[in-house]
Amino acid sequence: MLKAIKCGMFFSAVDETVKNDVVVLIENNLIKEVKNASEAGDLSGYEVIDLSNKFVMPGLIDAHVHVNMNGEPDPMPGLALQTLGTTALKSAKNAETDLMAGFTTIRDEGATGFTDIAVRDAINQGIIIGPRMFCSGIAIGTTGGHCDSHYSPYIEEKMPFGQIIDSPDEGRKAARYTFKYGADQIKIMATGGVMSVGDEPGAPDVSYEEMKAIIDVATSRGRISSAHAHGAVGIKNAIKAGITSIEHGMMIDDEGLEMMAEYGTYFIPTIIAAYNIIQAGIAGGIPAEAVEKATLVLKNHEKNFKKAIALGINIGFGTDAATPYNKHGEQTREFGLMNMFGMEPVQTLLAATKVNAKLLKWENKVGSIEPGKLADIVAFDSNPIEDLKVMNNVSFVMKDGVVYKNK
Ligand SMILES: [Zn+2]
Repeated sequence: MLKAIKCGMFFSAVDETVKNDVVVLIENNLIKEVKNASEAGDLSGYEVIDLSNKFVMPGLIDAHVHVNMNGEPDPMPGLALQTLGTTALKSAKNAETDLMAGFTTIRDEGATGFTDIAVRDAINQGIIIGPRMFCSGIAIGTTGGHCDSHYSPYIEEKMPFGQIIDSPDEGRKAARYTFKYGADQIKIMATGGVMSVGDEPGAPDVSYEEMKAIIDVATSRGRISSAHAHGAVGIKNAIKAGITSIEHGMMIDDEGLEMMAEYGTYFIPTIIAAYNIIQAGIAGGIPAEAVEKATLVLKNHEKNFKKAIALGINIGFGTDAATPYNKHGEQTREFGLMNMFGMEPVQTLLAATKVNAKLLKWENKVGSIEPGKLADIVAFDSNPIEDLKVMNNVSFVMKDGVVYKNK
């Protein structure tokens, strides 16, 4: 099957340039050639897709979502009261919503009962529609930490949101278990969180030794790892232990930022997650403890984000889509927030394409429009580099050479 996309404005994400009048030739699910329209030649035999009045770019990658949830003010009780089957079905719907918003690839940062992997496999087998998924399976944390479900002690035994470890040996075992059931990477809850009860976002939970044991299991298999981490001590422990990406990082200090630059650690700021919790507030039904924590962590985030840009840290695009009022399909607002915090618009686009592809070690498959890459392509009505609000309304979505949206 041959397709030719006529692009009015074309952003390959190989670099920062936007070209006019480009034709992308696609064979089955692969990009075959990228040519100037004047040199495209005879397109008979091709199905021609006319996007000559659009801005065309690679499919977006969100490096931090949770398909299990969708913006519920307090999601944990809901997850506990439904079967894993229900969770998987709802997750499938959330993943499809992400695809229809332009995210042709998503990284799930922790799901209950390996339901993320169920959805990923169903998508890959063509049973349901959704983005490419890069999955963490069940996240790993400590007793009383961010992924320790906080119910009655009798319920907790049966319904853990995360895998609970309290020693390096237990960490190693949990990491191996996670890979055994099909995870693409490991997710560690290194510090306390915003939505979890009774912990401190700034305090370290998983120790350096525990993280080292977990990350060594991932590294020895050529896999990556990511750490939910707000506080500076937990962040530095994770970086030293060899983590691939720091998620949130909202209470990082200067030393932590310098270490990220030195180690080449990726930074996924998820500004929108804290922003939405504060915007909705207690009036929106969010527990007071969570609103208080979010306010605390966002305070220094803008300042540190600017420093991270200045230090040349690899900043990826991730949204934590799922957290309160942070709905799947609406996470494109993160582009505007990254810009509000000081990132150039074109850099926000590169964060969600080229940078994220490299983070996932999928840079030879996705993240740019080049010959040999998978045909994951999206389009917008005008140039988002001039106004990032355009990102909230994707008009064309192609994944693997198949068109899912064209309006
Ligand atoms: Zn998350």
